[in-house]
Amino acid sequence: MNAVKPPLTDDLARVLIDEDSISRRVSELAEEINEKYKDIEEPLMLVGVLKGSFIFMADLSRRLTIPHVVDFIAISSYGKKGAERGEVRLLMDTRENLAGHHVLIVEDILDSGSTLSYLIKTFNARGTKSVETAVFLDKPSRHVIPVEIQFRGFEIPDVWVVGYGLDYKERHRTLPYIAEMIPEK
Ligand code: 5GP
Ligand code: MG
Repeated sequence: MNAVKPPLTDDLARVLIDEDSISRRVSELAEEINEKYKDIEEPLMLVGVLKGSFIFMADLSRRLTIPHVVDFIAISSYGKKGAERGEVRLLMDTRENLAGHHVLIVEDILDSGSTLSYLIKTFNARGTKSVETAVFLDKPSRHVIPVEIQFRGFEIPDVWVVGYGLDYKERHRTLPYIAEMIPEK
């Protein structure tokens, strides 16, 4: 599984989080989630935010031993400035009806907080039993809207990162590690 180690292309500065560290951390998060939701009656609803969360969702969900359902949504933020004002729009909703379920939002990265705060508000209004968040990466220095995170992978500095589902203009999404981009001149 870990045979392919793509070399760093010249737009990448360094590997920030390697494959083994990712794998260990995702296992720890899965254990915490298994423990926290072990007594719920309905299956846990995992809702991944496309596209960036798809690899984290695949790895995390396969390590869960509790009953769960995998679902996705798609979001658009109105450009960088708009996102910082919290302007977010739902492009594709879940297939499942979330009412009556415990929901765990699965997100690639927390930046300003506008995406997650919008989703938490939206799902709370749907008669869910609870809404919590599993976030693979967190950039604390970028937060604008406060968001509570129950399961956090790693804290990272304010740099643009790619790999493990995260892209730059659709590039580098499938790198097995998290790498820091060299900013464009
Ligand atoms: P927020 O709504 O918290 O400002 O933004 C979260 C979204 O911004 C993430 O889901 C992701 O799409 C994008 N984002 C923020 N920082 C990065 C980054 O360093 N790399 C990538 N690929 N996406 C990022
Ligand atoms: Mg995202």
